[in-house]
Amino acid sequence: MNGIPATGAGIDQRMNPRTGSAVIAAAIALGVAGATWQAHESRQGLRAQVLEHSLATATLTSAVLSADLEGHLKLVEAYADRPSVVARAEAGDWAAAAVHLAELREIEPGFGSSALFDPDGHLVARDPADEAVLGRDFSSRDYFRGALAAQHGYLSEVFRQQGVPRATVVAFASVVRGPSGAVLGVLQATLPVEQLRRHARAIRLPNGGTVQIFDGAGHALTGPQAGPENTFGSSTAVARALAGHAGGGEMTLPGLPGLRLGAYAPVDPYGWAVVVEQPVSAAYRPVAALTLRLGGIGAIVLVVGVTAAIVTTRLVRRLERQHGYSAAILEAIADGVVIADVKGRVAHINPAMDRLTRLEGENVVGYPFLDLLVLYDARGEPIPPEGHILAKAIENRAVAAGSGHELALLTRDGRRLPVGITAAPVLDENGAVVGGVAVVRDASYEREVDQLKSSLISTVSHELRTPLTMIQGFSQLLVDRDLSEANSREALRQINTSSERLSRLIDDLLSVSRIEAGRLAVRPEAVDVREVAREVLASFQTREGRELRVEADDELPAVHADPDMFVQILTNLISNAIKYSPAGTPVSVAARRNGPTVEVAVEDRGIGLSEKDVARIFDKFGRADRPEVRKVSGTGLGLYITRNLVEMQGGQIWVRSEPGLGSTFSFCLPVAVQDRQEVAP
Ligand code: ADP
Repeated sequence: MNGIPATGAGIDQRMNPRTGSAVIAAAIALGVAGATWQAHESRQGLRAQVLEHSLATATLTSAVLSADLEGHLKLVEAYADRPSVVARAEAGDWAAAAVHLAELREIEPGFGSSALFDPDGHLVARDPADEAVLGRDFSSRDYFRGALAAQHGYLSEVFRQQGVPRATVVAFASVVRGPSGAVLGVLQATLPVEQLRRHARAIRLPNGGTVQIFDGAGHALTGPQAGPENTFGSSTAVARALAGHAGGGEMTLPGLPGLRLGAYAPVDPYGWAVVVEQPVSAAYRPVAALTLRLGGIGAIVLVVGVTAAIVTTRLVRRLERQHGYSAAILEAIADGVVIADVKGRVAHINPAMDRLTRLEGENVVGYPFLDLLVLYDARGEPIPPEGHILAKAIENRAVAAGSGHELALLTRDGRRLPVGITAAPVLDENGAVVGGVAVVRDASYEREVDQLKSSLISTVSHELRTPLTMIQGFSQLLVDRDLSEANSREALRQINTSSERLSRLIDDLLSVSRIEAGRLAVRPEAVDVREVAREVLASFQTREGRELRVEADDELPAVHADPDMFVQILTNLISNAIKYSPAGTPVSVAARRNGPTVEVAVEDRGIGLSEKDVARIFDKFGRADRPEVRKVSGTGLGLYITRNLVEMQGGQIWVRSEPGLGSTFSFCLPVAVQDRQEVAP
């Protein structure tokens, strides 16, 4: 009978922890993918915006810068073309020409210096005057060569000016030509780059962004690395702008940390470049914040998901465990359990039920429970199906119970077992009845206890009444009648005997209660069997006119026993031998050594015992069921007490008997410690 109740079978399919976890994992993955996509989209959108804005700024700056440069260049060109300047140059009167240099700086105070070079590149006039550079050859300078090559206005690279004011400058240069077209010299004016930086500074950019200006050689006019020493031509953005392209994207710029995001534009027609940039991290900060928020939400979703997965898994495990527990409890429970479905078919029975009904493993699942639980009432009548306790529980949706005093269960081997049954309906979560469960308890022990109680009451009351009646009768006689001395003595003897009997009954009852409460203490010592046997027999000898003798080995060792208990054992056995044998027949006590024990046998030639009697006389209230016994007073407690006293001291008791021929009650007790050496095998 190992069928598992159908009620638990669905759990595994309904709540598989793996399926639950997979669904949650998929949901989390979807959430994370969604958040990532959202962040990506936002980032792309923001990037486009930043690039658009940067390009617009770069183009605008480039236009403003270009206009500014053109203005300066045009001014220088105009001065170089002035007839007075040309005339002075033609005449080689450089000092007079210098007047125009001062005038040029007055018109454009931004110019740091203005100068004239002869066709060979020697500095011939300067404003402000600077003796240190006057007459020096500047023919290798790009502005000089550029002006000659361009035949007209030329914008130089950034350089450090040698004369005053010492500053980082750019130069505007233009050829001074004679009426014939011959080169008479070069007019040049320098503009400190500081003047140009304001175009970059004029625009405020968010996120720490900057506007950078580069000359045609890739030197920066702006930023920490401004000056002719460094070139930015290696930066793709700068290189592309210098090549005349506009565009944008992620870039690196020397001197600026990390990756930048921005746009570049050429400064036409001067071959310069403007770059508008900001750190990528700053540009994407709003996206990063959004990503962080999404990430936070994702993390929460993740935590919730993982927690849900853990909780689900635990719950399922707990259910599985509970199911396991329930199954284990059902299997282990000492009472029989029958679970029936709503149609009254057996769904499950536990091993205890199998044992109670003696099914011996026969499979009854699916059979009507009425065939399994066949019940009889107190009168021994079979209980009809409609009165069946489990059927009533299912029908009335209420717990029903029946006790062992009235119910008996028919076992497979035809016996009727006293049982107590409690039955209850099994309800589903909606309260609908889906079956019933019956718990069947073996009530044989209770029945036995009940019987023992009745025996006690009847025995004790009988054993009390007889001597009490005697005492009352004889004492009444003594009071009412004037008896002869002999009769009075007899009456008093009867009273004495009866009171002794009462006293014995009380002693026996006390002994039984002490034995059962475990309050009887054994105090063992070395007991001389022969001597005690003689004393006990002697106490009977005076009353009995029959042969009572002791036969013991000469070398009999002492026993390890409680002396009082030993006396009580012998007294009980000898008094029984006398009680249950005809007057005049002999009673003997024989003692002999048997290995580590001493065996004592009390033999009589009395009524004897049948096998059936032997089976019950050592039990509480156990007496042989025969007239010779009934007419002798007794409680059936003597041998019960005797057996317990013997066993308590490590011994055993048994009887050999033939009905009508006599009985031999024997017991053995261990040899006393002092004598053990001798008897050890
Ligand atoms: P009691 O003698 O009070 O009935 P015991 O427990 O001493 O109780 O004895 C139990 C029963 O055993 C007796 O009622 C009697 O039937 C049987 N019995 C005991 N001793 C003997 C004996 N020596 N010969 C025959 N029957 C005996």
